[in-house]
Amino acid sequence: MKIKIDSQKCSGCHLCEMVCSLFHSGIIHIEKSAIRIQKDDLDTSLNTPLLCRQCKEMKCLDGEEGVNTQERKKFIWSPNRAERCPFDALTILGENAYHCNLCLGNPQCIKVCTTGAFTFSK
Ligand code: SF4
Ligand code: SF4
Repeated sequence: MKIKIDSQKCSGCHLCEMVCSLFHSGIIHIEKSAIRIQKDDLDTSLNTPLLCRQCKEMKCLDGEEGVNTQERKKFIWSPNRAERCPFDALTILGENAYHCNLCLGNPQCIKVCTTGAFTFSK
């Protein structure tokens, strides 16, 4: 399962970031979210949601041996993995990188997105 994004529909409201941090960490802190809304320089109308693409070939794990499924599904990862991601898909804050684990099958961000910018994709 993946989350498909339609950037054209994203209003930039940040609700997805808020619910992600709330669901996983119990606080609303958009920098502790696995999704982030990238805005253009002028902060006009172009909003691009960024999150892990759930790649089959996980470049983020290059150089790591024996990473099991449980570890892959964690929400908090090390910043090293975020730095290896070719898509710059993870948010880093301090010692942590925030990785979309699809809320272990029950994605919260999809539920709160009022514009329908996110949909499930298999
Ligand atoms: S962190 Fe980056 S490389 Fe790793 S699975 Fe997600 S998008 Fe792919
Ligand atoms: S699916 Fe869950 S972990 Fe992934 S960005 Fe949405 S709320 Fe965060």
